[in-house]
Amino acid sequence: MLSRIVRVLSIVPNQNNMATFSRRRGKTEEVSGKTEENEKVIKSASKSSQKRKHVVITYDSETEEPNDAEDAKIAKWEPKHWREVVDNIREMRKKKDAPVDEMGCDQCHDKDAPPEVQRYQSLISLMLSSQTKDQITFAAMQKLREHGLSIDKIMETKESKIGELIYPVSYWKVTKAKHIKLTTALLKDKFEGDIPKSVKELCSLPGVGPKMAHLCMKSAWNIVSGIGVDTHVHRISNRLKWVKKPTKKPEDTRVALESWLPRDLWDEVNHLLVGFGQQTCLPVKPLCGSCLNKSLCPFGRSVKA
Ligand code: SF4
Repeated sequence: MLSRIVRVLSIVPNQNNMATFSRRRGKTEEVSGKTEENEKVIKSASKSSQKRKHVVITYDSETEEPNDAEDAKIAKWEPKHWREVVDNIREMRKKKDAPVDEMGCDQCHDKDAPPEVQRYQSLISLMLSSQTKDQITFAAMQKLREHGLSIDKIMETKESKIGELIYPVSYWKVTKAKHIKLTTALLKDKFEGDIPKSVKELCSLPGVGPKMAHLCMKSAWNIVSGIGVDTHVHRISNRLKWVKKPTKKPEDTRVALESWLPRDLWDEVNHLLVGFGQQTCLPVKPLCGSCLNKSLCPFGRSVKA
């Protein structure tokens, strides 16, 4: 059987599953060292979890080894010429000079910080990056790092100050500053001051969805748990018809790609397509005329020279 499993879960912990996390870690329900303000933040995180919708998340068991032979037998469909297309994108990306190469989320953390701080910073940079250009995320991360970007430091920082530091990332005021504060409080109280090491638990944090969780598993833990599908990967996969049927949501694109793309390319494909989308296969007016894939790409073939 394929290593993929499907589970339905709430993407933020409620009181019950937060208790489960504590029990799993051998902790009592009592959390020590809570300040009045932090208790309020934890309560708020739990409250917001009640409002969030249930979503279906398909993800890989992080403990299973890939079984490519088995996958190959079952996979019935793959897009034509995809290997050639990938080689062409590698060629077009060989200078590695796209914004994601220099200022992507994997470039934002302090490489001299303790490992758990680096992991926390990786998660925060991914939270900031949603619907925000790499350059803006990178600048916000620099300001946060100058302020001090550790769980303890953010615990003692007011939400309004976080908002001030991360401006002008998108949704800086309405959601991101709040989610950073809530997530940080949960990490301290429920995850022993580190970020969790599974897609499921990462998705339980406010403001963290499947795309972010898979990218975080790679950047923070060096575990490839799935393909990180952002707006670039989603758009380009549909233009190239790398999905059997057009997909509306990035999460559907991720499932479709994982059904045929060899696992050893799952990590590379995100970086490859994000930079390609920033430089050539642009959201509006893609540069099809100068793209090496023009004759192989259904969208490119439809564009008049
Ligand atoms: S031909 Fe155009 S749409 Fe197709 S991959 Fe190249 S830039 Fe993108």
